[in-house]
Amino acid sequence: MHDLALLGVLLAAIAIGFGLGYRRASLRHRRQEARGAPEPSREYFVGLNYLLNEQPDEAINTFIHALDVNSDTIGTHIALGKLFRARGEADKAVSIHQNLLARPALSTSTNQHIQLELARDFMALGVHDRAQRLLHELLAHAVNSPYHSDAKRLLIDILEREKEWQSALDIAQPLIKQQPGMRRPAAHWLCELALEEIQQSSRALARKHLKKALQLDEHCVRATLLLAELDMENGHYRRAIDGLERIPRQDIAHTPTMLPALQRAYERNNDIQGFETQLYQLLGQAPYTSVIITLGELVHHRDGVDNAIERTGEWLREAPSLGGLDYLVDLYMESQRLSGKTPPDSRLLLLKHHTGALMKGRPRHQCRRCGFTSDSLVWQCPSCRRWGTIKPITGIEGE
Ligand SMILES: [Zn+2]
Repeated sequence: MHDLALLGVLLAAIAIGFGLGYRRASLRHRRQEARGAPEPSREYFVGLNYLLNEQPDEAINTFIHALDVNSDTIGTHIALGKLFRARGEADKAVSIHQNLLARPALSTSTNQHIQLELARDFMALGVHDRAQRLLHELLAHAVNSPYHSDAKRLLIDILEREKEWQSALDIAQPLIKQQPGMRRPAAHWLCELALEEIQQSSRALARKHLKKALQLDEHCVRATLLLAELDMENGHYRRAIDGLERIPRQDIAHTPTMLPALQRAYERNNDIQGFETQLYQLLGQAPYTSVIITLGELVHHRDGVDNAIERTGEWLREAPSLGGLDYLVDLYMESQRLSGKTPPDSRLLLLKHHTGALMKGRPRHQCRRCGFTSDSLVWQCPSCRRWGTIKPITGIEGE
């Protein structure tokens, strides 16, 4: 939200808080009211003066000090803290929420609400250990509280940021049945645990985590890729191929992601013919640029560059792309070099210059959720923090 808009909301919240304060006062002093409405406090006028002098921060501070904390206004105080946090002033939010928690005779529910907000303030400040302590305490005492599931989600978010994958799984486990949306992140946490086991040479444990990841989320491409890598390390190339060939069924968009591993597995299995057959199948399903270029290279090495030009040209007519055109220009230049024409045709050089310039610096992956782009594949989007939403870019400028 725009800072000025936030400020407006903040001041409106304070005004409502004052209104509530007066309403309460008027109920309390109904008899006095007959003689006239309660007088606004001195701070109210000081605050107004700050506002008129365009000193909103001073105005807010004065209003907050003037606003009584009572059952009518506590919601306004909590909201003020939230607004300060949203303005990037989490330290002020901490001070408001801590001040509220110190009040005696808060209801259990209000106490839990403030604890949750305070945990959010600490998280915004990056003080994760204090936020974690508050949330653990809240979860221990608030099993049936309306704030229980929010506290759990917040704790999971912190544990993810701290890369405490097993703890995140332990907290999320009871939620997974009721909330299918938790399955995908949980599968990725298991992949993270598997990577840690691989680093410590515990491949059997890694395999166990990956199989569990696939039980939780059968579309977890990352788990299938990692299992295939483990199979290749053990010399089980056929098993790796079978695993990798499941990936387009898990998520067709990740066909280009698995292609280099599939090529490696077929090559190590000495089965280039099998690889070519598989590539033709993939071409029929989804003619990604990577599939076209890989197939073009197979034809190039076996049947020569002119055959590769002819076949690649046919495939690109069906599925044109900048990367495919760039590869085709490479093939034409290679053909000219082989026929003794050096340097290559200047028109080809110009074309190559243009395709290169157009492709330079273009991201190859994009988050399908928030649009964040990156060159390499990242399994958790750094922007929206969703798992498995970053995929290869398709279309003329991509795959
Ligand atoms: Zn995103």
